[in-house]
Amino acid sequence: APRTPREVLAYLREHEVKAVDLRFMDFPGQWKHFTIPAAALTEEIFEEGYGFDASSLRGWQAINESDMLLVPQPDTLFLDPFARERTLAMICNIQDPLTREDYSRDPRNVARKAVHYMRQQGVADTACFGPSLEFFIFDEVRYEQTAHAAFYWVDSAEGIWNSGRQEGPNLGGKIPHRQGYFPCPPADSLHDLRSEMMLAMEECGLRVESHHHEKASGGQCAINIHYDELVAMADQVLKYKYVVKNVARRHNKVATFMPKPLFEDYGSGMHVHVSLWKNGQNLFYGSDYSNLSEMAMYALGGLLRHAPALCAITNPTTNSYKRLVPGYEAPVHLAYSQRNRSAAVRIPVYSARPESKRLEYRVPDGTANPYLAFAAMLMAMLDGIRNKIHPGPPLDKDIYDLPPEELQDVPRTPQTLDEALSALERDHDFLLQGGVFTEDVIETWIDYKRTYEVAPLRMRPHPYEFALYFDL
Ligand code: GLN
Repeated sequence: APRTPREVLAYLREHEVKAVDLRFMDFPGQWKHFTIPAAALTEEIFEEGYGFDASSLRGWQAINESDMLLVPQPDTLFLDPFARERTLAMICNIQDPLTREDYSRDPRNVARKAVHYMRQQGVADTACFGPSLEFFIFDEVRYEQTAHAAFYWVDSAEGIWNSGRQEGPNLGGKIPHRQGYFPCPPADSLHDLRSEMMLAMEECGLRVESHHHEKASGGQCAINIHYDELVAMADQVLKYKYVVKNVARRHNKVATFMPKPLFEDYGSGMHVHVSLWKNGQNLFYGSDYSNLSEMAMYALGGLLRHAPALCAITNPTTNSYKRLVPGYEAPVHLAYSQRNRSAAVRIPVYSARPESKRLEYRVPDGTANPYLAFAAMLMAMLDGIRNKIHPGPPLDKDIYDLPPEELQDVPRTPQTLDEALSALERDHDFLLQGGVFTEDVIETWIDYKRTYEVAPLRMRPHPYEFALYFDL
């Protein structure tokens, strides 16, 4: 794979590339792009950047200097499998043209700074992240918001309606409610679609491990990818979502990473497997609980301690909190366990090999901006390690079934986005260490979420309110 600007230009000619796509991450977490003709890409652009107007991008409006530079990163290059003309895409860092400094609100910059801080502290040289994302594929989704009313319905691949669940006339070849785990086709009607996604992901440079139908009856899928270093993995999450949405579109379907699109069915998470490495050694392997090292225990302690504040970043939508409820294998209690999928942190025991030892943080979901989410998780773990935050004893029971007395002292995930934002307001010193997150980034985030998401949702009539109240 080409690594230098010169190699990228050679690659361009060799593959008869027609267009170059420059991609970058906006503040809330959506991939943006614009395209230039292949001939316009020069070696200078890798040095000097490519100017663009950042003023109308969400969360970045406040900057007085709206001109920004995109600096393409050769090591992120891939051929876009969905563009009709042969198109080479590269992920960019963002710089201020006046100071030539990396832009502090560029999420990718925050992630790069978190890794730099970890190395500077001498804790580890590599942070390995392995997110497993779940998503739904629907035949169609319609929603309408008018001045007077709000309606929506979702028609899933298996034909189950969201509002007043209507089963089809016969269940042959259909997945019964909440029994979506691993059926073969024809019940698994999305098999071919996922295989196509898997191949497109591999074309984009992702290493896929497996794909399968997930537990929700209504078209829930998972494609598992191999872990990688933090920034590279956040890049890959964007390619992953891009592939999933585009393959679905190719077949006139829609895909969503919304954490809880269906009432009373499983939600979609982004469980994140993490381990810290130094000189090729996994520092999380040791002789403590479940063969974790002392460092891993402290990292776990940091994650649990800061989990409510982390939620504002790892579970950043109002819909995220509809997933974090009991009974759907999503975490509700901030506890850890070796096997328990109802715990916020699980220690997978699939393999006894030292290189496989890791923590699985089950709280995040796919609406998170992966750069900010991974960076924030790393900062929480580094805080736990620095301050030797021990997580206390594990909770090796099914947490949903425990009597209330036993759960009284176990802290819970926040119930709403607003609650999580308040937790972040109170607890964010750990994110500011080493200048990784700035006060400006935290304030802008909280303000953006409250202004554009929490408040408008609170003020808007909900479809269910019509069912409850219309005839009162
Ligand atoms: N879908 C569940 C969640 O919301 C997880 C299911 C699983 O563990 N495979 O996190």
